[in-house]
Amino acid sequence: MSEQTKTDYSNEFIVPEAIQALQPYRAGKPINEVARDHGLNPEAIIKLASNENPLGFSPKVTQALVDYLSHNAASHQGRYPDPNGFELKGVLSEYYGVAPDGLTLGNGSNELLEIISLAFLSPGCSAVYSAHSFMVYRLSTQARGARGIEVPAKDLGLDLDAMFEAIEPTTRVVYVANPNNPTGTFLQAQAIESFVQRVYERYGKGVLVVLDEAYTEYLEPSLRPNSLSLIEAYPNVVVLRTFSKAYGLAGLRVGFAAADPQVTDYLNRVRQPFNVNQLAQLAATVALKDEGFLQQSYESNREGKQYLSQAFERMGIPYMPSFTNFILFEQPRAAEVAQALLAKGVIVRPVAGDGLPNHLRVSIGTASENEAFVTALSEVLQAMGLAD
Ligand SMILES: *Cc1c(COP(=O)(O)O)cnc(C)c1O
Repeated sequence: MSEQTKTDYSNEFIVPEAIQALQPYRAGKPINEVARDHGLNPEAIIKLASNENPLGFSPKVTQALVDYLSHNAASHQGRYPDPNGFELKGVLSEYYGVAPDGLTLGNGSNELLEIISLAFLSPGCSAVYSAHSFMVYRLSTQARGARGIEVPAKDLGLDLDAMFEAIEPTTRVVYVANPNNPTGTFLQAQAIESFVQRVYERYGKGVLVVLDEAYTEYLEPSLRPNSLSLIEAYPNVVVLRTFSKAYGLAGLRVGFAAADPQVTDYLNRVRQPFNVNQLAQLAATVALKDEGFLQQSYESNREGKQYLSQAFERMGIPYMPSFTNFILFEQPRAAEVAQALLAKGVIVRPVAGDGLPNHLRVSIGTASENEAFVTALSEVLQAMGLAD
């Protein structure tokens, strides 16, 4: 029998250093939490903090979900979802012209970022990403015990030349958010393709380039890059898309990765078999086909963007011209302003954790939400003596 006893241990949880150093992802505050904290009616709260579609999702999705829940034979209910997402991959394949063996479904593209880091990163490896970019790149890299190489941004956007130069022999993945969150900047398709080409010519399949395109549907049609078409020539490219933003399915959780079949095979090895639930698969299948709703969401966002941009100009508040459904604006005493807005029932996103302590990010809402935000912001700035 072992001589060791419990007292030989420090009686502390033993956690890898990389995990101890993790700062958890700070999501936009949920409506119910703000209602509880500030004694407000949840119905009156305006959440402009997580870049969700303010129109919700397509009524056709609602109908499909209701039909599924009310008519589906009992023999189907209670079953695990299709582990291979056959139908959803089928419609994606047809819509985007990518073979199903190049598609991986995820519980949001967030999970796909995790899956990529599980498959391609380990201690001793590194990943390259930009400062002021999507925080999950850093978190998922760190959680694998791999090293993150954060490259300074250029005018709050991605500096692709510097990112290329930052690649080291240990680097296995480069993360490119385009458009970028939380700054709203965008790089033209041509710049992305020449970056991908440079990386492939120098490093071949040794370095993956992950093109995270969560906001692509909000781009003007003439700007929308056809990144999926890059995969054939550049097998090191992984394209991530999500149903959480323009399609409005953030609450259902579904996204996909398009990649070379070999990369897809590796992703599939570490993916949980039932990672995308049945309702999410169904919802995405229906959402993809409702182009009218997508168009309506695009138009509504375009109008809201114009309205908010003009309001910032009128108030003399510097902001980043946006290619997305949110706007980053400058605000000295950002934390206090965000707090004062919360007390008025308006939730915006502080971005100090993204290295931007003097900015706030506001998601573009419906016309009435945008107006309420502008009114609340000008009242707050008046009260704090910060108005122009
Ligand atoms: C919102 C977002 C995602 C993913 O959202 P999911 O809901 O997990 O699909 C991924 N990347 C960026 C840059 C985002 O802003």
